[in-house]
Amino acid sequence: MTNKNTNHPYRSYFVGLDQEVPLLDGTMQRYINFDNAASTPAFRCAQDAINQFLHYYSSVHRGTGFKSQLSTHAYEQARHTVLNFVGANPQTHTCIFGKNTTEAVNKLSHRFPFTETRNIVLVSGMEHHSNDLPWRSAAKVIHIGLTSDGHLDETNFDNLLDTYQSKVALVAITGASNVTGILNPTHRLAEKVHAVGAQILVDCAQYAPHRRVDMLELDNPAHFDYVTLSGHKMYAPFGTGALVGRRDTFEQGDPEYRGGGEVEIVTLEQVVWSEPPERDEAGSPNTIGAVAMAAAICQLQSVGMDEVARHEAELTSYAIPRLSKIPKLHLYGEMDPARAAERLGVIPFGVDGLSHFLVASILGHEFGIGVRNGCFCAHPYILHLLDVTDELALQVREQIIEGDRREVPGLIRISFGLYNEEDEIDALVEALERIVRGEYRGVYHQDARSGEYHPDGWNIDFDQYFKFC
Ligand code: PMP
Repeated sequence: MTNKNTNHPYRSYFVGLDQEVPLLDGTMQRYINFDNAASTPAFRCAQDAINQFLHYYSSVHRGTGFKSQLSTHAYEQARHTVLNFVGANPQTHTCIFGKNTTEAVNKLSHRFPFTETRNIVLVSGMEHHSNDLPWRSAAKVIHIGLTSDGHLDETNFDNLLDTYQSKVALVAITGASNVTGILNPTHRLAEKVHAVGAQILVDCAQYAPHRRVDMLELDNPAHFDYVTLSGHKMYAPFGTGALVGRRDTFEQGDPEYRGGGEVEIVTLEQVVWSEPPERDEAGSPNTIGAVAMAAAICQLQSVGMDEVARHEAELTSYAIPRLSKIPKLHLYGEMDPARAAERLGVIPFGVDGLSHFLVASILGHEFGIGVRNGCFCAHPYILHLLDVTDELALQVREQIIEGDRREVPGLIRISFGLYNEEDEIDALVEALERIVRGEYRGVYHQDARSGEYHPDGWNIDFDQYFKFC
């Protein structure tokens, strides 16, 4: 690979970018990671913050020793950093730390004040399962329709709000799709949601590492009531995410997990819960994760979210025309390079006549390029984008139940991070051109149960690269 951009300003901010990995032919190559929509590599500053903090690390809350005081201070500072990052007012909103967005949405689904008459959640058809499935067991879910190219159908959204009006409790929608990178007009939707007296949750797992989030003040009709974040998608993969939400919601009701750290008084008969956010953080928290997440946020803020967006738009507008020219390759979602700044750098594609499982496997084994393939935890959205008929969907469902995933529909997805560069896109394009021409060397066999393709002769001893003791 040629190195046009050796002066890439952000690569030095990350851990592990120069790591070489083995290929099928026995050579080593610098890994290219285009799987940032799944998880990102770590910021060096997050690693450094943890290393520094570990010298003082101790129990948080109520410990009287210096290290406990400092740890409590760091943990609470991390909370403020998150609130500030999403433009939340600490008087009206609270930051509850948890593992990730999945946990955050599940928490809200347990804690949301549904009533007998207000119990509908409108969920978009492009949601990650994490912002869809929790609602199905908590309320009556109605899915908002999509246009054929995968955007939200806002007319359908308007009609649903109009039809169900005061029955709508919440709209749960992603800020950006983790499949197509399409951005939703969330502030405009929020105004409409609030006009019928409902609230809005914006899943920012994919959005927040790439664009500025501004929850706005509660008296602004365009405000967000709740947002979710996942540290591992924002360069802080240390097991922490956050739910930022209205204090008044978390001041009421019982937490879904019960235990230490969230109570004022416990008698054998009675419990008085703490105020938010402690009420919703049962047990000892992941202080290290929170510290890392806050350090990553500081780094993103110092780069500037406008600059993050600019860099990503540049990569996206570079990649789209190059990928589009590859014969047999089809892009999905928003395909106009001139609109690269209006979407995220998440690009899904398929290749005629080649399984997504196979293409992804060849990229990994022969070119050292990490991508994701399949349905990206958004099965309904993928079926919609691929225009899969109900009949075929049913047939595939039956095959899956019988343990055969070979024909599972899906796409290949590349997704950019702050450190990716044009050279890497060139390498990907070259690799895809060769794959399309059949110029790959391995002999691949598909495993029926997983659907994955494995090349003959791939006998890697992972302990050689990493082991515990
Ligand atoms: N929502 C979106 C849009 C996502 O991209 C993801 C992760 N891919 C999730 C929710 C779930 O996040 P987590 O796995 O961190 O819980």
